[in-house]
Amino acid sequence: MSEGTEQHCLPLSDGNRIPILGLGTSSPDQLDKGVTVKAVKTGIEIGYRHLDGAFMYGNEDEVGEAIRAKIADGTVKREDIFYTSKLWMTYLSPALVRACLETTLKSLKLDYVDLYLIHWPMGLKPSEKDLFPADASGKLLQDDVDICATWAAMESCKDAGLVRSIGVSNFNRSQLEMILNVPKLKYKPVCNQVECHPYLNQDKLLKYCKSKNIVLVGYSPLGKPNLRNLSNPILLNDPELKKIGEKHHKTPAQIVLRYQVQRGVVVIPKSFNPERMKQNTEIFDFQLTDEEMKAIDGRNRNWRYIPMKEFVDHPKYPFHDEY
Ligand code: NDP
Repeated sequence: MSEGTEQHCLPLSDGNRIPILGLGTSSPDQLDKGVTVKAVKTGIEIGYRHLDGAFMYGNEDEVGEAIRAKIADGTVKREDIFYTSKLWMTYLSPALVRACLETTLKSLKLDYVDLYLIHWPMGLKPSEKDLFPADASGKLLQDDVDICATWAAMESCKDAGLVRSIGVSNFNRSQLEMILNVPKLKYKPVCNQVECHPYLNQDKLLKYCKSKNIVLVGYSPLGKPNLRNLSNPILLNDPELKKIGEKHHKTPAQIVLRYQVQRGVVVIPKSFNPERMKQNTEIFDFQLTDEEMKAIDGRNRNWRYIPMKEFVDHPKYPFHDEY
């Protein structure tokens, strides 16, 4: 196990703590049954204590099975694990929020999740069958839900003890402000989970979040090297990252993860490969210099690997604003 993987946490505004390194569990590939169980078990054995999941990933039953197996064999206790799930777009109506969370808990066979996030600020029409309900022409059926009402339903889930902390994902500054300005706000979002890596370093959003005591959780921190789209720049091939890596005897992946934890960003790289999973934990035994941090900052090009272009005409599309 990498020294310290379990010890590195950031405080959340509600008094809880979040491990700064987590394991992403979303996989675009069609995986055989059991692959996720095996990978998550291996991840816990390697030392991961923070697992990032979602209703939408369709594998919470397998993630839950792995967590329960590692509790049963004595590797961890439930309270050692920090599990995040997310409320999907078709469940943003306040009356549906708890139902989505309860489905997650039933799949996991757990009593609570540690962190529950509104996955996207954009609503889609409620649908039993489809995660992306569309009309006959294929146009997505949008639902313009009041996100502050959704937030109040999230607060009720925390009060009911079904979640320990609540937060948001893919919110821009003005959407965060809308929630922070709710007159009867009971709980602030503890975090905003957004795409974040050296090609989209989210400098302004990070400063804003820090000023409001909101933790920024960075998804796709490795720049999604699995994306098969030739127009995407390949982050892990960046010469500057390679150069810095050679100096520290680390891979570009370890450099980009270290960069984030050093600037106070939680990272959740996904790997289901034991060597890469382990490699991604070996980021607490070296430090980047100020010049190296600046050089990595300088690679920013505001590049989104997940622009969600099919949603650009949604009234709550978060990426029209600068941040
Ligand atoms: P990442 O940037 O984490 O890239 C994942 C890919 O990188 C996988 O194909 C993995 O392959 C490969 N990889 C992992 N480690 C290494 C390494 N050391 N060297 C080279 N390649 C490596 O992208 P994701 O989009 O998966 O983001 C991570 C997590 O963030 C997701 O799993 C999910 O939990 C969350 N997320 C949240 C979103 C949201 O809207 N809130 C949106 C997108 C992601 P392999 O498995 O073979 O190692």
